[in-house]
Amino acid sequence: MTQQLVFTAPRRALPPRHLADLDPAGRAAAVAELGLPAFRANQLAHHYYGRLIADPQQMTDLPAGVRAAVADALFPTLLTAASEIECDAGETRKTLWRAHDHTKFESVLMRYPRRNTVCISSQAGCGMACPFCATGQAGLTRNLSTAEILEQVRAAAVELRDRDHGRLSNIVFMGMGEPLANYARVVAAVRRITEPPPNGFGISARSVTVSTVGLAPAIRKLADEGLGVTLALSLHTPDDELRDTLVPVNNRWKVDEALDAARYYADVTGRRVSVEYALIRDVNDQPWRADLLGRKLHKTLGQLVHVNLIPLNPTPGSDWDASPKPVEREFVRRVRAQGVECTVRDTRGREIAAACGQLAADSE
Ligand code: SF4
Repeated sequence: MTQQLVFTAPRRALPPRHLADLDPAGRAAAVAELGLPAFRANQLAHHYYGRLIADPQQMTDLPAGVRAAVADALFPTLLTAASEIECDAGETRKTLWRAHDHTKFESVLMRYPRRNTVCISSQAGCGMACPFCATGQAGLTRNLSTAEILEQVRAAAVELRDRDHGRLSNIVFMGMGEPLANYARVVAAVRRITEPPPNGFGISARSVTVSTVGLAPAIRKLADEGLGVTLALSLHTPDDELRDTLVPVNNRWKVDEALDAARYYADVTGRRVSVEYALIRDVNDQPWRADLLGRKLHKTLGQLVHVNLIPLNPTPGSDWDASPKPVEREFVRRVRAQGVECTVRDTRGREIAAACGQLAADSE
C-alpha cells in the first residue's frame, strides 16, 4: 500500500459560517453581533430545524429590513445540487452536491415501506485509501463543515416533505469519508440532528448510525459523548494480515483493538454494534474467515453485535467483484453457527453507483 492515510484534511478553506455551524450560545452571539434582540436566535433556529427553512426571505415573522443582513451573516448558500439521479423506481435518489469552493460530494436518499433513510457524507473524498472503494481512490479533498453535513439532512427532509413521502426517519454516516476523521464537526452535527427543535431536527439517536473503519481512540471518545447513536464498524475481514491491505488504517489499529473499542462502545451506550463486511469474491469470503469472524465477534461482543454482509458493488474497471450467492449463503451460515447474528444488506442504489464505496466515482 503506497498511499498514505490522511487523518487531517489538506488546508482547503471551510465554507462561510452558517447558522447550522453554531450551538445555542454561538447563535445568541451571532444574533447580538447583528444588533438583533436575543429572542431572534431561537426564532431563526426554529425556522431552520423545525420548519426546514434556510432562506430568511421566507421567514415572515422576521422584519423585512433585516432579512438580507441575516441571510448574509447566517444563511450563505452552502450546497447546490449539481446532479440528481434516481433508481429503484424512484425510491432511491442520489444527489451530487457542489459546495462554495466547487468541492463535490454526495448523499443518497432511500425510501422504504416504513422508514426514510439518508446516507450522508462527512468529508469530500476520503483519506483512508481502502483499495476496493471508489471514494478512497481519489483521496481526501477536505472535511465538510457541520453545516454542510446538516444541509444534506435538511435537503432530504425537505424533499420527502414536498413530495408527500413522510418524514426523514434515519440518518447513516456512510457516504463519502471517514466520519471519525472529521470528529468534532460530525459530533456537532449528530447533536443538531438529534436534539429537538429549536436546537436540532429531533431525529431519534437510535435512528442515527455513525460508521468507522476502526479509529479505536475515536470510537472510545464517541462512546463517552453520551449520544446514543448506533456505531457501525467496517471490519471487512477478521484477520490482520488481509486487513492491513484491505483497510489500511489497520496498520495503526489492529482488528482486536478495533473490536475492543467496539465492546467499550456497546458497554457504555448499551447499543448493539453493527459490523459491516463487504463480501469480496476470493478475497475475504472464505469459510475459514467466516468461522474466525464469528468466533472473534462472539468472544468480544457476545450478543451485542450484528453483522451486515454487503455484497460488494463492483466499480468500473476494478478487479474486485461480489461473491457468488452460494458462497454468501455459506458465509452467513457459518457466522450464525458461532452464535452471532448475520444478515445480508439490501443493495439499494446499485444502478446509480449509490452503494457503499461508489460515491463520486463517476462524478468528475
Ligand atoms: S471504504 Fe470508507 S473509509 Fe475506506 S476509503 Fe472508502 S469511504 Fe474511506
